[in-house]
Amino acid sequence: MENELLSLIPEYIPLGLGVYDKDGYLKYANDTTLKMFGVTMKDIYNINIFDDPNITAEDKTLLKQGLNVSFETDYDFDLCENFYETPIKGIKKYFVTKVTIMRDPEGNRQGYLLACEDITVKKAQEREIIESYKKIKATQKELSLALNAGKLSSWNYNIKEGLFCKFDVHIENIEKRSLQSIYESIHPDDRNKFMALLEAVAHKQKLPENRIILKVLENNATDYRYSSFTYSAVEDEAGNIVVITFIQRDITEDIIYQQNLITAKNKAEEADKLKSTFLANMSHEIRTPLNAIVGFSELLTETDDAEEKFEYKQLIETNSEILLKLIGDILDLSKIEVGSIDINRQKLNLCQLCDELYRSFQQRIKNPKVILKLINPYTKCVANFDKYRFMQIFTNFATNAIKYTPQGEIVMGYECMPGQVRIYVKDSGIGIPEEKKNRIFSRFEKLDTFAQGTGLGLSICKAIADATGGEVGFKSKANIGSEFWYIGYTDVEYVEKSEVADEDLNNKSTEHLSADSPVKIKDLNILIAEDNDSNYLLIKKLLKDNQLTRAITGVEAIEKIKAQTFDIVFMDMRMPVMNGLEATSLIREFNQTTPIIALTANAFDSDRENALAAGCNHFMTKPVKKRELMDLLFRYFKQQPQ
Ligand code: ADP
Repeated sequence: MENELLSLIPEYIPLGLGVYDKDGYLKYANDTTLKMFGVTMKDIYNINIFDDPNITAEDKTLLKQGLNVSFETDYDFDLCENFYETPIKGIKKYFVTKVTIMRDPEGNRQGYLLACEDITVKKAQEREIIESYKKIKATQKELSLALNAGKLSSWNYNIKEGLFCKFDVHIENIEKRSLQSIYESIHPDDRNKFMALLEAVAHKQKLPENRIILKVLENNATDYRYSSFTYSAVEDEAGNIVVITFIQRDITEDIIYQQNLITAKNKAEEADKLKSTFLANMSHEIRTPLNAIVGFSELLTETDDAEEKFEYKQLIETNSEILLKLIGDILDLSKIEVGSIDINRQKLNLCQLCDELYRSFQQRIKNPKVILKLINPYTKCVANFDKYRFMQIFTNFATNAIKYTPQGEIVMGYECMPGQVRIYVKDSGIGIPEEKKNRIFSRFEKLDTFAQGTGLGLSICKAIADATGGEVGFKSKANIGSEFWYIGYTDVEYVEKSEVADEDLNNKSTEHLSADSPVKIKDLNILIAEDNDSNYLLIKKLLKDNQLTRAITGVEAIEKIKAQTFDIVFMDMRMPVMNGLEATSLIREFNQTTPIIALTANAFDSDRENALAAGCNHFMTKPVKKRELMDLLFRYFKQQPQ
């Protein structure tokens, strides 16, 4: 029974077995062999092992020499065509073979036992694995190159473990970091954003984009860098998000480049805007005094009245001064632009100089509601200053205070300490709103468009302060007032006054222009909306045969038109409180018939278009010519008004 069982082994063993006699002729093959080679015993009986084309010559030699051999073969069935008959054609199988020499107890060769295993499937899998491994290696290399070129790193966040694995340029050097450590390397401002993202991705929430920009601190660095993280989620078989993959790209340089571009663009736009505003202001500022000079010169030649002549001459002089000051400012500015301000220091008697300045500023105040005071605490004060520049700073401060103080008081003064003199002008005027304070000393900056000025005064003061090694500054509160000051560092000798203040100077109220009494003549009833006194006076002289009413602001013009019927309105475009454009638009809402003539120092096409669009019937550029004005009135009223 046992022998019977044992005899079954060769038929059931999953190995191909072949038994050859001592000369190498096949005498027996088990079923597995027959199946492996697709043959019957008849087909292969007596084939000789030494003729087998799939066994190498070396192995055959070894066998002949009496040595056992083992080998692996890509068994080629096509090679066996002349060896034995088999229906298997055109394929290769992979066999592991061992040929053992069988001997009798004396050691004499009896035959050969060939054991052969078909490992074709296993080998194919093995080859596939090797191929895949090679591909992975190649991909890793490419990835490494790409990561390097794109300054990229790749992160895998394992949600369950709370671990980040970083693959950088050196793919093999995997860095592992905890969520806490990653969290801490992110800028505090971005941390919540990052945690919210992890939460959202883990719960498959739809997000607007698959990218997040964070400021992160790289190993041992002290400055945060901008990184863009593109992410995607990896699911397990159950559809749960288990890993989030991030591709990190350092975009600091891009962001800096972008920020620089934006700053440069804003600067260019700002400069362009300032230049345009400056040009428009210049046009207005130059035309306003020019208007008065041309207009009154024309009138001067027409009148024989000595008193009128004197008045016109005075007006021409005042406006020439304004024009000269303006041109002086522009020249000063160009000097500042090339950095060549001349400073000629000399010993100045500040008591005397400030007194002179005080008197001259007093002359400029036309507003009866404003009082100018001088605080001069010294009987003697001599300091080293450039006289012209000293006066220029004081004058700019005082002129502004006069311009921007509708009522109350303006105090000018100076105080000394060893090695320094501080001059100041304090006012109870409109003040400067908080948001505009940082622009005050910038060139061409005018915070109010209606007030006369080019926006150069304070920037010139600042440039003088810089050139003299001094300082300028101010404090101001909207609707309360301002104080502008300059500190000059210089040798100064001073003697303080006794308590007796120079009351007579301090308490003098300013002189002001007495308003001309309205001249009532005949014909047209005209409203002149004009804030500038010289301009109004000029029109008044030109239209002296008519009944004139004046408004100083746009709001006043509206009120007057509501209260009274006018034949025609002359509307200055730039006025305080409400400008002429806005006023005209509002008037047109309730009055479409009264002709409104825009009268402005702005001479650009856009000004003309804006005026007509707002509802003006006609547009006249200052300086106004008498002939032009008369022609216009004639056209409207079909009579020669002269
Ligand atoms: P401007 O020639 O237009 O007066 P400045 O450079 O002298 O130019 O002044 C710049 C701006 O600062 C002014 O347009 C005005 O809006 C503001 N400003 C200057 N001084 C005062 C002041 N005392 N009170 C209120 N605003 C002032």
